[in-house]
Amino acid sequence: MLAPIHIIPAGELVCDFCTGTPVVKRYGCQSFDILAGRSVGDWAACARCRDFIDAGDWNALVDYVLEKFAKNHPGAAPPRAVARAYLLDLYSTFRKNRREKLGAEEN
Ligand SMILES: [Zn+2]
Repeated sequence: MLAPIHIIPAGELVCDFCTGTPVVKRYGCQSFDILAGRSVGDWAACARCRDFIDAGDWNALVDYVLEKFAKNHPGAAPPRAVARAYLLDLYSTFRKNRREKLGAEEN
């Protein structure tokens, strides 16, 4: 049986963390290199991811993103430890490149 594919309508702005909609917040960010390319410009977030980000709860954000990815791509999820380390590193780089920084999250 083929796994269902999560289709994002063309032109719809999706959360850069979990691909959810609707997007409720944009985080100013400088472009930076990532593992498989380059992150260009600002990052968008849905309400759920925004709450984790604004609370500085990066572990909870990663758990939520991994859970959602596994739900949207059954059978295609990478090993959890590898994905978790990758996302924590990616979000750390995102934090370093944010244009407006919140004091509470720099830990
Ligand atoms: Zn999200």
